Amino acid sequence: MKVNIDPDACMGCGVCGTIIPELFSLGDEGYAIILLDPAPEQYRDLVQRAMDECPEEAISAKD
Ligand code: SF4
Repeated sequence: MKVNIDPDACMGCGVCGTIIPELFSLGDEGYAIILLDPAPEQYRDLVQRAMDECPEEAISAKD
């Protein structure tokens, strides 16, 4: 699964990193970065939750 962050939309709130700290972190500039690419299948449900809870709808994923 390929997970993407829209850098123009992310506001660096950190919510995604609290949902899956193994996959999302905040980079040096304070915006979300992806730590595992591709994202392991085991995170599929949590990625969906991160997509749902991201206040900027900055997270997308595709197979
Ligand atoms: S939840 Fe969305 S806005 Fe917040 S850090 Fe993650 S990608 Fe950025």
